[in-house]
Amino acid sequence: MIILVINCGSSSIKFQLFDMPSKKDLAKGLIERIGEEDAKITYKHNGEKLVEVLPIKDHKEGLSKLAQVITDAETGVVSSLSDIEAVGHRVVHGGEYYSSSVVIDDIVLKAINDCADLAPLHNPPNLMGITEAINMFPGVKNVAVFDTAFHQTLPEYAYTYPISHSYYDKYKVRRYGFHGTSHSFVAGRAAELLGKPLSEVNLITCHLGNGCSITAVKNGNSIDTSMGLTPLEGLVMGTRSGDIDPAILFYLAKKENLTINDFDRILNKESGLLGISGISNDQRNLEDIQDSNKMAKLALDIFDYKLKKYIGCYLAVLNRVDAIVFTGGIGENGHLSREKSCSDMDALGVEIDTKKNEETIRGKEGDISKASSRVKILVVPTDEEGQIASDTYQLVK
Ligand code: AMP
Repeated sequence: MIILVINCGSSSIKFQLFDMPSKKDLAKGLIERIGEEDAKITYKHNGEKLVEVLPIKDHKEGLSKLAQVITDAETGVVSSLSDIEAVGHRVVHGGEYYSSSVVIDDIVLKAINDCADLAPLHNPPNLMGITEAINMFPGVKNVAVFDTAFHQTLPEYAYTYPISHSYYDKYKVRRYGFHGTSHSFVAGRAAELLGKPLSEVNLITCHLGNGCSITAVKNGNSIDTSMGLTPLEGLVMGTRSGDIDPAILFYLAKKENLTINDFDRILNKESGLLGISGISNDQRNLEDIQDSNKMAKLALDIFDYKLKKYIGCYLAVLNRVDAIVFTGGIGENGHLSREKSCSDMDALGVEIDTKKNEETIRGKEGDISKASSRVKILVVPTDEEGQIASDTYQLVK
């Protein structure tokens, strides 16, 4: 069964074609800068890469371009669009409606639309991709895979904020958590590596990319996670602040006459590694200059310290932990962050093997803990698209 996976952002479409159930990667690509004269499509298949810059007006045109490259006589991997038997969509917010993936119908479309208030940057483009795919592939089943679904097992005391309960009653203000597809995928793979059923493992999964989140997994279920109502809470990120004292906002609002929109921009786009360093949101760039640049080093130190604090929290929450699992661009490659966030924790049963850690980069899977470490430390490359394809296959086969 050939399955197309689509991840629509506000100005981008990421896509991948899989042959299921073998999960064979047939082709993948990215369309960026939708709405611009110089939009760009990058497309990879059979070890070849095609890059084209062209005007793409909207997501509808983007998907037509996608359809053209995958069916083209030279670059195509299917002879016609009717070869595609299902489409899996990444949807960021499923609110309290969905704790697992679902086949999309009118009720699901309405629910995704209802959650747009909670994820105004993500759900509307996700919905646009779904609507276009429904038109483009008539009669084909579309499946929604939600970033929030895995965290719907959080207990009430972990998802409720300590503010007036009326805000939950009226507006559903609560912790939802994100990156669920990734946390769920690496938890499953970690259980396989540990040789135990998922329902018997306790894990701390760290998804560290441009966005970062950490999850406490008990007996295979998410029981706490660092992102909250939105993906702004928790760890330090590329450009997002993560946790700060909320009173900083009142103080700065008075000092600098800042508005809600200013804070939205400052905390989401101008904080985190970029805000502290004043140089870059990219870990690699900061690591390269940290010996000579004090602010780059400080940014990395704060990132690693916050990560270590959350690991400590979740060790307490879980008590028995089988493994700490690292994934995402930084989690899979950033051996310095892994080392700093797991060092000096031998009394808590966490002992990192520095040599194995340094050797585990670029998509490699591995155990980077010392043989004596009570808590294993694993690196597991994430595969969100593959997981979306698997969920889609399970629901439509
Ligand atoms: P992602 O959002 O998962 O693509 O991850 C992006 C982040 O991964 C950026 O901060 C990159 O700097 C970081 N990253 C990628 N490769 C490396 C590397 N070799 N060392 C440190 N960080 C890396």
